[in-house]
Amino acid sequence: MSDSVLIVGGGISGLVAAYSSVKQGKKVTLIESSDRLGGMLDTYKTEFGLVETAANGLLNSYATEELLQELGLNPILPKSSSKKRYFWIGNRLKQIPISFFSIIRAIFGFLFLNAKPEENESFESWSFRIFGKKVSANLIEPALGGIYAAKLKDMDPKMVFSKFFWKEGDSVYRNFKNSKNKSKKKPKTRGSISFQGGMKDLISSLVKVLEGKIKFRLKTEIVDLETLKKEYPGHEIIFCTNIRSTYQILNETNPSGFLKHDIKPIPLLSIATITCFTKTNLLKKPGFGILFPKDSDVTANGVLLNDYIFEGRVFGEFHSETWIYAGDFLDHLTNEDVIDLVKKDRKRISVSSAEEDIVSVHAKIWKQSFPIYGNELLKFNRYLDEMENESSSTSQPVRFLGNYRYGIGLRGLIESALNL
Ligand SMILES: Cc1cc2nc3c(=O)[nH]c(=O)nc-3n(C[C@H](O)[C@H](O)[C@H](O)COP(=O)(O)OP(=O)(O)OC[C@H]3O[C@@H](n4cnc5c(N)ncnc54)[C@H](O)[C@@H]3O)c2cc1C
Repeated sequence: MSDSVLIVGGGISGLVAAYSSVKQGKKVTLIESSDRLGGMLDTYKTEFGLVETAANGLLNSYATEELLQELGLNPILPKSSSKKRYFWIGNRLKQIPISFFSIIRAIFGFLFLNAKPEENESFESWSFRIFGKKVSANLIEPALGGIYAAKLKDMDPKMVFSKFFWKEGDSVYRNFKNSKNKSKKKPKTRGSISFQGGMKDLISSLVKVLEGKIKFRLKTEIVDLETLKKEYPGHEIIFCTNIRSTYQILNETNPSGFLKHDIKPIPLLSIATITCFTKTNLLKKPGFGILFPKDSDVTANGVLLNDYIFEGRVFGEFHSETWIYAGDFLDHLTNEDVIDLVKKDRKRISVSSAEEDIVSVHAKIWKQSFPIYGNELLKFNRYLDEMENESSSTSQPVRFLGNYRYGIGLRGLIESALNL
């Protein structure tokens, strides 16, 4: 096992991987193409409150709790006013978006139906079969859309539930119960967490603890693996790049490997986050946010009501909302265009939400940057698994971490990087 590690990519995956490698006594070099660390995660402070460029929080876990303790970083918990979550169904807010009959049908499917997906079955048809159409359209599609941003028809159940064994005859419930690498250690507090200064606090704490212990090479873009191997003999190489870069680097390095394994370009998704500071609240009642099913009259996937979630997000008398949009239509839009979409969507939710109500707005569009958890991604992951296995006994093992590797959320990314 090599005691020198080269990490490519300085987002949260790369920084946690570097932290974990230092703890194991390894010599670490981290290469990052941009001039800053943190990748998608960043927080900036405006005169009205905090703005996040990607995640607003993360799901807590035992591993994260331990990491934060070691970093001396105190998480903050959501306020009790964030408990309610809403769905926008038939132009109205609903807490439970389905009928009693649909709930019974879904529970039956969850407990008893054979969950094993059919050959090339999409998440949508799998979900119709197991939970029924109403629950799929009104509950599962918006809820999963809030996590994966993609449409159910483009996702693959085997990619979304990659920890299931999918034994013939086993229900979703049995699959959950027996899933792979299920952590037995529970965190002291469950649910979402964030930090006083936003997600940037997590990045800053990691960078602070790594400074002086590892070598950072910023503004250095890696284009192929073979050159890297020659430049860093005897190093374990851990890619913590985003899906687009990983795909390009490997295609550049070994195009015949892609041909042999029938790896096609991975469908990617654009995603936009728009934080508005306003004079009046979007809703009269408190809650975490609203999810919008795909057939609703609102274009957004969801909106977070920041006032009610974490303390310290808004300053003074103002209110804060973060709107999330996802889809290829964003590829052709400017920040001004998505801000117009927010203004229209706000009016659909509340007719009194006039444009003058917005005092400040901050948009960020991540174009073609998010992996779609579909069949092509599943195939690509199996190719990466094979590469990892084949290289594991060589002098230069190669590993891949990131939000396209069987888990999109920060909780999974942190756990994978700590379990190196
Ligand atoms: C709008 C939005 C909302 C989100 N909300 C949540 C949420 O609420 N909860 C949650 O858990 N997750 C959320 N996420 C997901 C989460 O923020 C990301 O999955 C996570 O930050 C990705 O981290 P990463 O380190 O794997 O990748 P990245 O942050 O993409 O980092 C990759 C790094 O690699 C560098 N790089 C790329 N190519 C090269 C190269 N060739 N050479 C050198 N360096 C390279 C990049 O510059 C970058 O710094 C959200 C994401 C978005 C966009």
